[in-house]
Amino acid sequence: MALMISVSGVRGLVGTTLTPGLAVEFAQAFGTLLRGGRVVLGRDSRPSGEMFEHAVAAGLCAAGCAVTRIGIAMTPTVARAILDGRYAGGVNITASHNPADWNGIKFLDEHGLAPDPQRAREIDEIRRDPARLSSVTEFHPIQLDDGAGRRHVDAVLRAVEVDLTPLRGLRVVLDSVNGAGALHTPAFLAALGCEVIHLNAAADGRFAHSPEPIAENLSQLCERVSSEHAAIGFAQDPDADRLAIVDETGRYIGEEYTLALCAQSVLSRRRGPVAANLSTSRMIDDIAARFGAPTQRTPVGEAHVARAMMASGAVVGGEGNGGVIDPRISYVRDSLSAMSLVLQLMAATGKSIRALVEELPRFEMVKQKMPCGPDQVRRAVEAIEGRFAGERITRGDGVRIDFPEGWVHLRGSNTEPIVRVIAEARDREKAEILISRVRQAAGI
Ligand code: MG
Repeated sequence: MALMISVSGVRGLVGTTLTPGLAVEFAQAFGTLLRGGRVVLGRDSRPSGEMFEHAVAAGLCAAGCAVTRIGIAMTPTVARAILDGRYAGGVNITASHNPADWNGIKFLDEHGLAPDPQRAREIDEIRRDPARLSSVTEFHPIQLDDGAGRRHVDAVLRAVEVDLTPLRGLRVVLDSVNGAGALHTPAFLAALGCEVIHLNAAADGRFAHSPEPIAENLSQLCERVSSEHAAIGFAQDPDADRLAIVDETGRYIGEEYTLALCAQSVLSRRRGPVAANLSTSRMIDDIAARFGAPTQRTPVGEAHVARAMMASGAVVGGEGNGGVIDPRISYVRDSLSAMSLVLQLMAATGKSIRALVEELPRFEMVKQKMPCGPDQVRRAVEAIEGRFAGERITRGDGVRIDFPEGWVHLRGSNTEPIVRVIAEARDREKAEILISRVRQAAGI
C-alpha cells in the first residue's frame, strides 16, 4: 500500500511506507511553512505513536518551531489546544480509523483547520526540495502540557445549553476502541450526569476490533447496551473525531444519524446555516428546512466543510460518517461535541434515542465503488451533466444529481484510481435504480 498524501496529511503502513525519517521531513516542511512559531503536538494511542512523536518534534525543532507536547490526544483536543494557546499550528499523529499497523501525520493551521489543498501540496513540495527547508541553529526547549484534554472537556461542558437534570443516572455504554478517546471521555460523560460503562478503555492502541465505527465492528457494543439496559451506546474511532450511536434496543442506528441528531439538537435552540458534504444524507436538508435554515453542500473532506462553516457562520456541520463540528468548540469533527449535542436533545425532549430517530425522515443509502482512472472519471462526469441537464446538478467534487425521489453523487477518489457512486432514496430499490441510471449514462 502506497503512502497516502492528502489535505488531511500523510498516512502509511508503519516501517514500510511511513518511516520516522519521512516523519522528520514532513514535520520540518510544515515547520518551514509556519516560519517557525509555536506548535502543539499530540498523538493517538497507537504503539508507534511515541516514535513518530519524537520524529515530528525533531523535524519541527529543526525548522525553528517551539513545540509543546500534549501526549495522547483526540484530534479535536489538538484543535482546541491550538485555539486556547494561540499556537501557529498543530500536528496530531494518527491514522484515524485505519488499523493499528498504520499511522499518519495530520497537520492543523492556526485556526485548527486542516490545510487547504494548495497549502497541503506546498508542504510536500517543500519536503521534496531540501534547499527550501528552514534549518536553524537556535533551538527552543520542548514543553509538556498535560492539561489539554481536560480543557477540551471543559470547553464542551461550558457550551451546554439545556438543563441536564434528566440525564442524571442515564446509563451509557462507551466503546473507545482503546484509542485516544479512552482518556477523557468517561469523565466528560460523568460530568454530564451519566453513569458510564466503558468498553475498550485502555489508551494503548491495541484495538479490540476493527477501529472504524461501523455496524460490523460494533457487535460487542450493541450486545452490552442491550444486556446492561443502557439508554444509549457511543463508539469513537481511534482519534475520537467520529461518533457512532447504538439505540436503547442495542441497534446500531447508522453513522448518518449522528450529524442529523446533532443538527436537530442545535437548530431547536439556535437558528443558522448548516453545512455538510455532498455525500451526506438528505436528512440534513429536511431537518434544516423544518427550522427554515439553509444547508450548504461542500466537496467531501473535513477541511471543505469547516471552511464553508466559517464563511457562512454555520451553527453546526459535518459529514455523514459520524463527524460533527460544533464551531463553538473548534472547526474539527469532535466526538465529545457530538455526544453532548445528542444527550442535550434527549434531555430537552425527554425522548429515547430510538424515538428521536423514528421522528427523522428515513432514507436508504447505497454506496458502490469501482476501478476508474481520473480521465475516465472526467468523461463520466461530463456525460452525466449532459444526460441529466434538466435535473438539479451540483459540481465541485465530481457531480451530484438531485432527482425528486433521491440523489446520486459520483466522485473520483483523491488517493486511489477508483470512482465512488453514492445514492440515496426512500428505499434501497429506488436508490439502486438511480445508481444504475447514472452509471449507464456515465458509461461505467
Ligand atoms: Mg478519525
